[in-house]
This record gives sequence, C-alpha cells and structure tokens, in this order.
Amino acid sequence: MSRQRGVRKITVDRDPSYAPCAYLICKVTGPRGKYDWDTRDEATTVLVQTDWDYPGVASTFGWVPCRKCRATDGTVDCEHRTASEMIADARAYLDRIAGRKFVEDPGYFRGTSGESQP
Ligand SMILES: [Zn+2]
Repeated sequence: MSRQRGVRKITVDRDPSYAPCAYLICKVTGPRGKYDWDTRDEATTVLVQTDWDYPGVASTFGWVPCRKCRATDGTVDCEHRTASEMIADARAYLDRIAGRKFVEDPGYFRGTSGESQP
C-alpha cells in the first residue's frame, strides 16, 4: 500500500462502446509523459451522463461559460448566452480536450484509497 503524495491529476475521456453519449472523468496514473487511465475501472472513473453536468466538468478543465460576464456557471442563462448554448459549447470543449488535457483533481476522487483526508 503505497501512499502517493502530491497532486492527483484527472482527465476526461470518452468510451463510446462502454458509455455511449457520456463522458468519463478518469483518475490519471503514471508519471508525467506516461500518463495512463482506464475508462472502464469504476474505482477511478466518474461517469458524466447529464447534459447539465457538462458545464461544471468543462469548467474544471478550464472552460469558461461566458467570457463577457462570468456571472453564470453555464447552467443558467446570462444576458449574453442561454444555458443550452453553453451546455452545447461545454460538450464541444470536452470533445476537444478528451484525453488530452490534465488538471489537478478538485475533489472527484477525494476519499478513495490512498487519498489523505483534509
Ligand atoms: Zn454573460
């Protein structure tokens, strides 16, 4: 049982034959440059199935719902964009970065084995 130190990285990926129309937030293993993840390991993935979850997940990976006001999280209309526009935009963003962008885990896998509690 090795307790890994440092920040855990996550990525988002798709696995259409396993989870059609969904995204999977995956805990990344391996050192930088050799990142690896398993979209089919339930212990290290979080399934994102609901459209309304896309903006939140996309935001985790750097997407901004509305650059004009930043007053919305992407699920509520602002004066510039509708929620459905932003959800579609979030989905397109996730498609672009799937398996290619890695960020620090903001808490999706908190409490899983090896994770120190705050
Ligand atoms: Zn706005």
